[in-house]
Amino acid sequence: MHIDHIGIAVANLDQAIRTYEIILNQKLIKTETVESEKVETAFFETGESKVELLGPTDASSVIQKFVDKKGEGIHHVAFEVYDIHKEMERLRGEGFTLLNEIPKQGADNKLVAFVHPKDNHGVLIELCQSQP
Ligand code: ZN
Repeated sequence: MHIDHIGIAVANLDQAIRTYEIILNQKLIKTETVESEKVETAFFETGESKVELLGPTDASSVIQKFVDKKGEGIHHVAFEVYDIHKEMERLRGEGFTLLNEIPKQGADNKLVAFVHPKDNHGVLIELCQSQP
């Protein structure tokens, strides 16, 4: 449908929030912790898309590992879909590697699933579907 958000991995979420409040000239909408991923998120609204800052809540966080390995920067691009189950099935059929067997509960009240970056020219892609 459209780019729902761009996920940016940061080392220090509070610092990054201050930076993005200046860049975007607005206050953040909300922060939310995804316990299962040990990630704290902060959202900004930019038209129909959002910026999702991702900070680690501890050293074993996937975001900490990402930052250690690659440094801060774009972590994933999220596309909103109508039917995440259908899209996962379609992409599996096309030979893409899905990182989730079934959609999981993500931040921002979405069902999410990730497509491996090796299949997407180096970009981790998130499929997300809003829940009622
Ligand atoms: Zn995301």
